[in-house]
Amino acid sequence: MTDLHRLSIRELSEGLANAQFSSRELTEHYLKRIAKIDAQVKSYVTVTPELALAEADAADTLRKAGGANVLTGVPIAHKDIFCTQGIKTTAGSKILDNFISPYDATVVAKGKAAGLVTLGKVNMDEFAMGSTSENSYYGATANPWNLNHVPGGSSGGSAAAVAADLAPFATGTDTGGSIRQPASFCGLTGLKPTYGRVSRFGMIAYASSLDQGGPMARSAEDCAYLMNVMAGHDAKDSTSMNQTVDNYVANLNDTSVKGLRIGIPKQYFNVAGLAEDVKARVEESLKKLEDMGATLVEIDLNMTESYVPTYYLIAPAEASSNLQRFDGVRYGYRCENPVDLMDLYKRSRSEGFGAEVQRRILIGTYALSAGYYDAYYVKAQKVRRLIQQDFLKAFESVDVIAAPSAPTTAYKIGADLTPVEMYLGDIYTLAVNLAGLPAINAPVGFDQNNLPVGLQLIGNYWSESQLLSVVHQYQQATDWHTQRAAIAEENA
Ligand code: GLN
Repeated sequence: MTDLHRLSIRELSEGLANAQFSSRELTEHYLKRIAKIDAQVKSYVTVTPELALAEADAADTLRKAGGANVLTGVPIAHKDIFCTQGIKTTAGSKILDNFISPYDATVVAKGKAAGLVTLGKVNMDEFAMGSTSENSYYGATANPWNLNHVPGGSSGGSAAAVAADLAPFATGTDTGGSIRQPASFCGLTGLKPTYGRVSRFGMIAYASSLDQGGPMARSAEDCAYLMNVMAGHDAKDSTSMNQTVDNYVANLNDTSVKGLRIGIPKQYFNVAGLAEDVKARVEESLKKLEDMGATLVEIDLNMTESYVPTYYLIAPAEASSNLQRFDGVRYGYRCENPVDLMDLYKRSRSEGFGAEVQRRILIGTYALSAGYYDAYYVKAQKVRRLIQQDFLKAFESVDVIAAPSAPTTAYKIGADLTPVEMYLGDIYTLAVNLAGLPAINAPVGFDQNNLPVGLQLIGNYWSESQLLSVVHQYQQATDWHTQRAAIAEENA
């Protein structure tokens, strides 16, 4: 069977249930593809064939015994930010190059309990700081649509692995766009859930008030299957919410596009740097949704200009605090021959962290320092509240808000943007995290270089079902999500 990698999650689930193929066959198929194709894509930091085959065999045994669930035996790739017991977890950093977690992240544990088979851990920007995955200590990952371009970031390995058919779906995390932007750059569907929907336990912290895990896959339907696994309250994460979890798969047809009020923020479509092709594809997708019965409503989001400066104060401030634990003493990289404790701290951190991480630690430490705390950090928190209020006001008159996920398609590898140029590329995604809202990316076509363009739909709190359902309806009526990169067509 050569085309197992073409199957959706529902088809995989059905094929396993009907004994058309075993989990071992499916897992071997994916491992072969990784061995053949990933040298070009470089999406995996660690492939775990022995573990995967053992889990696959266990899944097949369980199925024979009648104990299988809907996803028992389906393979997955985890972003290398989720702790995995017994397997290296690097967060894309040299400082964690030798780190083997003594426990599983809740998301990983839930995946195991659901019977998912771990193919390995996928690449990311160091500590999830970046938009290209080039900030990884393990080197750049390529975009399957054009290997000279980046897959986006920070969950670039997750996106590239799925877009090259090297995993049927993957976990990602999103602090300021890291699920939605790589999904956009790689032509995938990716959901950033409401803050508190998915446990952060064992998910290496970047900016704790913004970080949220979520699914990345080819379609809303595939994402819904993974959301059913990931979502839910966790006593081990005090910010995880005890909120009713939907059955995201069962709800896929619950929201009709007919009568849906879609807010179009006028500020968003006049942003300098919004590429013509991106604007055109997003507008075409909105026209399609209008044809399907939605109403487009122009709205105001007046705080748009504050998104980038507010996020780039709060995120580094939290990062500077979170990353203090990497000190060369307890775990991770330690410098050679330290002369004293201060030298050990300084050199372990200077040698272990990459340039972007160091930049953010410095900015964050500065913003939190006694003399500047009120002027920068406290002020940014106040602006954050205003940004949230802007959205809440908009949701009084619309059901969802539409935007591009990114102003451009995927950059060239090595484009060497300045930090500020790179940060401005996050304009459409940051506010969602600052407000704690859910949002989804859906592929809506290509630019003139055949690179994917993404539409972002932002929902009100806890509206993941609605977002998945709207995108599912759109995907029933269009075929952008079924298009495959040339490299994904290759057989192993
Ligand atoms: N690109 C943004 C940053 O560099 C967002 C990253 C993320 O969501 N983890 O911080």
